[in-house]
Amino acid sequence: MPIKDGKRYCVNHPAARMNRTGTFKALVNIDGSSADGKINPNSGLVVMPFVCDECGYLELYVADRAQQETK
Ligand SMILES: [Zn+2]
Repeated sequence: MPIKDGKRYCVNHPAARMNRTGTFKALVNIDGSSADGKINPNSGLVVMPFVCDECGYLELYVADRAQQETK
C-alpha cells in the first residue's frame, strides 16, 4: 500500500486510511515433525496487519520495522 506522510492508504481506495488490527499476529512456519504436529513457536515471523474498512484489503508489515514508523 502507498505510505504518505507515514500513513497507510489502501491500494484500491487511495483516499481510505488503512487501520491496524488490535494485536500483532504471527506467520508460523511448520517446523518440525509432521507426525506429532508440533509447531516450533520460534520459527515464525511477527507481523502487523493493516486492513481497509471499505474492501477488506489486507497487508502485512514486519512488526519490528513497522513500529519505527508513525501510525
Ligand atoms: Zn480498500
